[in-house]
Amino acid sequence: MIITIDGPAGSGKSTTARGVARYLDGQYLDTGAMYRAITLGVLRNSPGSTDSTDAVSVAADSVIELGHLDDGSQWIKLNGEDVSLAIREPLVNENVSWVSAVPEVRTAMVTLQREIGARVSETNGFLVAEGRDMGTVVFTDAELKIYLTADVAVRASRRGQDLVAQGHGVSQSEVAESLVKRDRLDSDREIDPLRPADDAVMVDTSNLTADQVISNIAEMACGR
Ligand code: C5P
Repeated sequence: MIITIDGPAGSGKSTTARGVARYLDGQYLDTGAMYRAITLGVLRNSPGSTDSTDAVSVAADSVIELGHLDDGSQWIKLNGEDVSLAIREPLVNENVSWVSAVPEVRTAMVTLQREIGARVSETNGFLVAEGRDMGTVVFTDAELKIYLTADVAVRASRRGQDLVAQGHGVSQSEVAESLVKRDRLDSDREIDPLRPADDAVMVDTSNLTADQVISNIAEMACGR
């Protein structure tokens, strides 16, 4: 069974997807991490570039590997190096939207995501895949599609807490501004824009705890 969770930054996708996967004893796939890893590769190879050909060559030449720690969280390697922390840097946040809008980058990542989905399906397991286009493009036949939303202020506060926990001093207004900009770029791009699938269940997480969201979705999954 595949469950997709899409939505804007800070809507609670990662916590929810990880929690639902743990609840169902399934696997969690954070696809944003993949686009972030390619972005990190571009920033390292060509600092300051916004040239799509730099992103195309990084996507073509890089090996991305994913795996899970005992607590269910995902690690990601770029050409053998664990970049799970480095991909959360503010500079990656600022550049990931342009890199992920490059068609060749998306084709490479979507292929990898579908391979992971096929492997989980072969074992009759659960896959909880989170991103922007999981329900609309990558896993259109998913048994359950969720679209998470939350007020901008709530999302900015969540993202701000994540960044402070990672040692980055940022103001709430800077976080909100960067988040709104990224949502706009992700929603307005021509290829695979952020939007709910027609058959997605909309869940507003503004006034819900993470546990409430997780158990709601896990119950929906068990009812399918
Ligand atoms: O979810 P996260 O904030 O880590 O995603 C980082 C970025 O990766 C998004 O802002 C978006 O530009 C891109 N992304 C995407 N498609 C996905 C997942 C993420 O384009 N399926």
